Amino acid sequence: MNNTADTLPKNNLVKEILFWKKKREALILAHVYQPGDIQDIADFTGDSLFLSQQAAKTQAKVIVFCGVQFMAETASMLSPEKIVLLPEIKAGCPLADMASAEEVKNKIKELSKAVVVSYVNSSAVVKSLSDYCCTSANAVQIAKAIPAEKEILFLPDMNLANFTAKKAKRKIIPWPGFCPTHHLLTREEVIKAKKLHPLALLLVHPECRPEVGDLADYIGSTRGIIEFASNNQAKEYIIGTELGILHPLKKNNPNKIFFPASENMVCRDMKLITLEKILCSLQNLEPRIIVPEEIRKKSLQALNRMIEIT
Ligand code: SF4
Repeated sequence: MNNTADTLPKNNLVKEILFWKKKREALILAHVYQPGDIQDIADFTGDSLFLSQQAAKTQAKVIVFCGVQFMAETASMLSPEKIVLLPEIKAGCPLADMASAEEVKNKIKELSKAVVVSYVNSSAVVKSLSDYCCTSANAVQIAKAIPAEKEILFLPDMNLANFTAKKAKRKIIPWPGFCPTHHLLTREEVIKAKKLHPLALLLVHPECRPEVGDLADYIGSTRGIIEFASNNQAKEYIIGTELGILHPLKKNNPNKIFFPASENMVCRDMKLITLEKILCSLQNLEPRIIVPEEIRKKSLQALNRMIEIT
């Protein structure tokens, strides 16, 4: 950690970041699970694929990805000519880590006829072993587009796999992974929140357990949740996803009230990024995320097949 960044007051820190951003011709992307002060200085906020797609359309030379490793990998896959920085290299994704390349290769051998669909929350190597990528917003559409006689191996999130199977009416073999932040939310906590806020609608992410989803008024991606709450007439919402999303929800809907389904829905890895680390990263152009070309080409195929369908 650079000592200067460590000791700067917040306003000066933001000024310094903006100075270095301009100097480096950089773009700052922030996932909606990032801390609010980071979302506030970003050029784009949103979900990981949206952010990477926006960055690819710009002339920026450097992308600072405020998120976790697989997200920065996706940005690098779509913008190989740009320098992609992840301000804290240790910001990983426990869900993505639950499907290692070796384990996935073995499973693919075992289920040689299955079509492999991987959620974007997976490593670039795992994406490169897959037939299709999907997001939480389009997983159902992708599953429906695969010929009915084909078996589907869906990885790495079993809750999203089961949600997709139910909605697409397809038999899906789920990989036994889960997002600790979403899987942690229990039915009991949700019932308690609903009793406390009887007028509130419950909006949850499909990475939550099915018994939580059963109680929801809406199940959808982060973007879906933001759109639902912004367009609905209801005044109160209980939110079943990572707490960072409360920042854009409250900012975009000052007249509505948002309650977390559980105060424990915090992704530790997402919170490893800080303003200080963003400044250091811009100054030093490190740590960089580079996806080897062979893996990039193969994983792009899976991503492009998804884009063709959606
Ligand atoms: S919230 Fe879950 S899926 Fe998202 S980065 Fe954190 S652990 Fe991974």
